[in-house]
Amino acid sequence: MEDLKKNKGKKRCSFCGRPEAEVNFLITGVNGFICDSCSLQAYEITKKASQIGQATTGKTKLDLSELPKPTAIKEFLDQYVIGQDDAKRYLSVSVYNHYKRLMQKNTTDDVEIEKSNIIMVGHTGTGKTLLAKTIAKMLKVPFTIVDATVLTEAGYVGEDIESILTRLLQVADYNVPEAEQGIVFIDEIDKIARKSDNPSITRDVSGEGVQQGLLKLLEGSVVNVPPQGGRKHPDQKMIPVNTKNILFICGGAFDGIEKKIAQRLNTHIVGYTAARKTAVVDKNNMLQYIAPQDLKSFGLIPEIIGRLPVLTYLDPLDRDVLRAILIEPKNSIIKQYIKLFEMDGITLTFQENVFDYIVDKAIEYKLGARGLRSIVETIMMEAMFEIPSKDQQAFEVTLEYARQQLEKANLGRLQSA
Ligand code: ADP
Repeated sequence: MEDLKKNKGKKRCSFCGRPEAEVNFLITGVNGFICDSCSLQAYEITKKASQIGQATTGKTKLDLSELPKPTAIKEFLDQYVIGQDDAKRYLSVSVYNHYKRLMQKNTTDDVEIEKSNIIMVGHTGTGKTLLAKTIAKMLKVPFTIVDATVLTEAGYVGEDIESILTRLLQVADYNVPEAEQGIVFIDEIDKIARKSDNPSITRDVSGEGVQQGLLKLLEGSVVNVPPQGGRKHPDQKMIPVNTKNILFICGGAFDGIEKKIAQRLNTHIVGYTAARKTAVVDKNNMLQYIAPQDLKSFGLIPEIIGRLPVLTYLDPLDRDVLRAILIEPKNSIIKQYIKLFEMDGITLTFQENVFDYIVDKAIEYKLGARGLRSIVETIMMEAMFEIPSKDQQAFEVTLEYARQQLEKANLGRLQSA
């Protein structure tokens, strides 16, 4: 009090010591002052502390009656992703079981439900990431997507394997118990495969090293995670995270794995049951026959395969599916364009045969589903540029118009997209 009187007219923040003139404002307390920036800091500290407090009480917010059932999860996926029924079913069940396991964690039951990490095999652009992103929309636990390619050569030029969990921590706002119940989608898992099935022929240590590291995460162990990601450095404080209850969903294109599947099917047919000879193999969709040993032939170590017990595949996209992708999903490309025009008060319509034309072009340029958007974008560019400034209430895209626009554009650009 004495101090306050002495310094009358020279008020200072009692925390940082800065005089009134150097801060935005001072808040007066009984025995001192606090400046705006110190009070902000105090707020942040309090917020963090209360979060940690809540987290360590470990109360799970999950309640089985509120959780979406597998059929409901699949129905939700159906709104955004066309086809891919097998993958959808596996994902729905795994996510549902993941929740059940989390709930069981708090009981003292003898039967411990083990987690079933998933691996999805499918050509690029068939919807693996889309499935993961869509399921994330309805999840009640932290979720993140990481790319396995950044991990290659861990310890040399790539990122440390633990950095996979950094994103999860960030999504969970560094709330460790929350992150420990999360789901991680690891994309391009095939990129860490060993180049040869036989480790003694090619010592492809890097791929195997990364797999060993990943194994630790999949199995469930306490790992030290760099809070900012990237490579570890000595003075960085690590956050220990237990991966026991984190669900891992892996996805990869596994280019060329069809050959391994075919080889296996062949030996099987010749070597064992003659009856199998008559079984018709759909050569256009070999991935549907995928089995764990094919992943081994491709170069995943058996221990990793063992830790990814749920194996599913994605179908290749044929003409009908591509057409459906263009029009049907809740936020399909066509619906998005109609919306864009609607915002300018213009009713946009398409002649039915325009859709077939777009699909034909996507197939012709081997662009797959990813190409649909660039083709539509090219067709619509001129209209989007000119029509908003015209006094026009409707616009119909005819086949002739679509063809004209696409031919006018630099097709080579699309082909290399
Ligand atoms: P990847 O299998 O390589 O992860 P993506 O999920 O990234 O493929 O798919 C690329 C794009 O193609 C998606 O953003 C989406 O627009 C479209 N797409 C692919 N497959 C489907 C599908 N089955 N249903 C709806 N859209 C799809």
